[in-house]
Amino acid sequence: MRYRSTRGELTADAPNFSDILLAGLAGDGGLYMPESWPKISPQTLREWRTLSYPDLAAEVIALFTEGAIDVDTLRDMTRDAYADFDHAAVVPLVEVEQDLYSLELFHGPTLAFKDMAMQMLGRLFDHVLTQRNRHATIVGATSGDTGSAAIEACRGRERLSVVILHPKGRTSDVQRRQMTTVQDDNILNIAVEGDFDTCQDLVKAMFADHTFRDEVSLSAVNSINWARIAAQIPYYVRAALALGAPDREVSFSVPTGNFGNVLAAWAAKQMGLPIKKLCIGSNRNDILTRFVIDNDMSVRTVEPSLSPSMDIQVSSNFERLLFELLDRNSTRCAAIMREFRETGRMAVPHDAWTRMKEVFEGMTLTDEQTSEAMRLFYNESLYLADPHSAIGLAVGKRFQEPGIPMVAAATAHPAKFPDAVIAATGIHPKLPPHLSDLFERTERYECMDSQIAGLQDAVRAHIKRG
Ligand SMILES: *Cc1c(COP(=O)(O)O)cnc(C)c1O
Repeated sequence: MRYRSTRGELTADAPNFSDILLAGLAGDGGLYMPESWPKISPQTLREWRTLSYPDLAAEVIALFTEGAIDVDTLRDMTRDAYADFDHAAVVPLVEVEQDLYSLELFHGPTLAFKDMAMQMLGRLFDHVLTQRNRHATIVGATSGDTGSAAIEACRGRERLSVVILHPKGRTSDVQRRQMTTVQDDNILNIAVEGDFDTCQDLVKAMFADHTFRDEVSLSAVNSINWARIAAQIPYYVRAALALGAPDREVSFSVPTGNFGNVLAAWAAKQMGLPIKKLCIGSNRNDILTRFVIDNDMSVRTVEPSLSPSMDIQVSSNFERLLFELLDRNSTRCAAIMREFRETGRMAVPHDAWTRMKEVFEGMTLTDEQTSEAMRLFYNESLYLADPHSAIGLAVGKRFQEPGIPMVAAATAHPAKFPDAVIAATGIHPKLPPHLSDLFERTERYECMDSQIAGLQDAVRAHIKRG
């Protein structure tokens, strides 16, 4: 399998999976896409029904690593990656109401669905870096969930140094402690004076400094890395198989921020999974649902909400869907993205938007509606959902069609957002046993202002120590 950029053609020396894993973003600023969609036949889908989740994940991911990493190696990784999840099924499917299911993706170490991909990413990096006898430095900015998932997945790995920037005082206590109480030598947490955008800009500046980038072998684990999308496809396959695929259609509802999770579902559909509808849920930061409803993709300012992991205005992975809707015309894709960056408004051609409408639905919930949904699912079904998962369930319920199961992606454990859960339901969600002493653990992090030079020195010093 070869990869190409959404802003360029397939070249003679096109990269393979291992290359794009380390590269993250394409050199022309576009996002990597597989040269074509691997297909899964109905026969193969039937054979996969009896596989365990880790073994199924290896089969699905192998379709994208072909020529770079074989399925046996992947199977060792997936079995290891999901071994410590606190549910035997790894991704249990819970029927909340008739034909309305919750696909629980939060049973990993940091209680959010980011673990599903990040646990694999850490192992994939380790494998490829060992093969190439290299070391890499992962630098990332986080507003909460991504940083802790990356730290958990990379801790103790000798070939990786990890530096995560978080905005000082602006993450929740649970989120911060999940990062700062990890004591492994290869992990460095930095609290930056500023907000998430300040952190993000510092990371971008480090990547733009090519001398520095090469000196420390910078890599990224943000959600534009194709490997993360690939590792998110298997759970859609698992849920559809459990509900009768390939002989029965199923729809999904996904609470969406950067568009990575729902893009994985869309990829599964291209690969042959019988998916009817994909429903996008937003909070008041509703750029994606405005697009689905009105073809209005215009950036507004980010406002805080009860579901902070979806407080995003520019959904970076949307470029991949745009590329597909434009019949993979990378010249048009690059032009539309350039204009979007300049004007804050994306002009998606009407025919492309119409094709998108055949599959996607979208709906926005205010904070009040989100609390109401949490209360409703708890009171009527005794199902405790975090704010993000509640949006997924409410949107799924809204777009349910008779006879077609609707599966809502549950992206965070209720204990990760206890204040919102208590306010809506009166129930105090308990942290699972492996985190029950989180508030007694020792924190370790450095504080810095937003000067790039000081930060680069801190990264260099960290690599020397590790
Ligand atoms: C990251 C995240 C999302 C949004 O996922 P995207 O792939 O960015 O669309 C939703 N819910 C939770 C809890 C998250 O951590």
